[in-house]
Amino acid sequence: MELGDNKAAEVQFSEATSLDCKSWMAIQGLAGCRRLEKRYGEAADLILKAMEVVPATMALATEKLQQDLISIYLAQGGPGLHRAVDLAERACKESPRDSERVVLYIKALYGIRNFDGILAVVRGFLRLEDEFETEDSKSWRLVALFGAIEEMGRGLRATGSIDLVRPLLDRFIKASFDGLDFSTEPWMAMWFVEFLYDFYDDMDEARELCERILDPAFEQNLRVDYKWAYEYPLISCLDHMAKICYLEALSSHENGREVDTWLEKLTGLRELAKDRISVPDSQLLAATAYRTIGGCYENKWRPLLRHEIVTELRSLSQAAEGQGRPWSVEVSHSIGRLGVLLTAAGDPDNAMAADALALDAEPPLQTQAPDTAPQLQVTPFGNSRYICDGICTARNFKYNAVYAELFWCTECLDTCFCGLCHEIVKSGKLPYRRCSPTHRFVRAFPVSLEMKGVAGWAGADVPVEEWRVNSEWVNKLLHEWSCISGCGD
Ligand SMILES: [Zn+2]
Ligand SMILES: [Zn+2]
Repeated sequence: MELGDNKAAEVQFSEATSLDCKSWMAIQGLAGCRRLEKRYGEAADLILKAMEVVPATMALATEKLQQDLISIYLAQGGPGLHRAVDLAERACKESPRDSERVVLYIKALYGIRNFDGILAVVRGFLRLEDEFETEDSKSWRLVALFGAIEEMGRGLRATGSIDLVRPLLDRFIKASFDGLDFSTEPWMAMWFVEFLYDFYDDMDEARELCERILDPAFEQNLRVDYKWAYEYPLISCLDHMAKICYLEALSSHENGREVDTWLEKLTGLRELAKDRISVPDSQLLAATAYRTIGGCYENKWRPLLRHEIVTELRSLSQAAEGQGRPWSVEVSHSIGRLGVLLTAAGDPDNAMAADALALDAEPPLQTQAPDTAPQLQVTPFGNSRYICDGICTARNFKYNAVYAELFWCTECLDTCFCGLCHEIVKSGKLPYRRCSPTHRFVRAFPVSLEMKGVAGWAGADVPVEEWRVNSEWVNKLLHEWSCISGCGD
């Protein structure tokens, strides 16, 4: 089922349930299929049915069914959220030390934006006021809640309580905590970086920990059978470090301090990242920093983007003039990447034109009836570029996947917000480090036909597969970018 063959799995589960209507496992499997099809009401009913027939002695199975039910209600949204909260609260009362239950409760509370509730749950679970509980065990409890790391952090930050957990974090980060050298848990080091970066104003500690992870000694110290686990901390670290250097460069520039150290660091990160990531954030951010800081850097940023932009434009040009199918997934992705690159190049108009075309094609638009407003439906396999970066999205869970509007930031890297989150950003109330209320935004969805017509040929009634990229538009950009010197080809 995880491989996406939902239909085949569904047939098997259905057969199994009809053979033996008491087979709770098959009923649970069928519920999973219904959930993937977004038929949440039916999925919940099936789980309730499975709960009736599962033998009372099977505590683990009952537990798993209960968790499934809460997750289904969470995914359902609307009134389902309150059902999820009630169930999760009850589950936690039964067993308040069970971190998995607490994680689900935090997620449910986050779903209804009850940040005070999250604060109370975290406080209770960490036993912050309990003098008999050791600091070590409190610290480990904090890590146990990282299953809802973003929901927890945002709840604490929104209630002005993020410093509550600071001493517990410090026990790990300052390496004073016995028994933790990250040699068998390198990903944990990165969780701390992400937490520090997202929720604390000061970026120095996140940067210092990043430097520790990027130091060759960190990888060398990993236990042999954990070497593979370095990949995730490394990639995430390269991205976080790039963001930190970029923000430090901008703020140094604003405050009249020297910026070269940060820009050199950014360039160095690009060197480290370029064999691992096709277009690393450090490259895009270095270009953006050189471009926006301006002055003597004017000739430095274009060569940083030229090769990638020309590559995408050439493949689009071939698609526009070729004899084959005019529109394909490759074209859609290529045009999406072009959108990111042109934003970094400070050309939001053409970036928007590219995105307008891609947005209308993928992910699929959901329009229930002819006279209702179009909605953007984010699918699990769709392009992550069109997922809101606001509070409605947390790691591994989307609290809202249907947008009536989508706004692009013209200044941040690959950042967009749904209508509701855009309001939160503009009011400066986003409870984590992302974007800024002073940035300029462009409404990218609903897509205007006029905008779409710039980058492509697509009428209101033309089916997606017949769209064409506008060769005139591509070739004009290609000419502009090919003339820039300072790069290999
Ligand atoms: Zn949102
Ligand atoms: Zn922004």
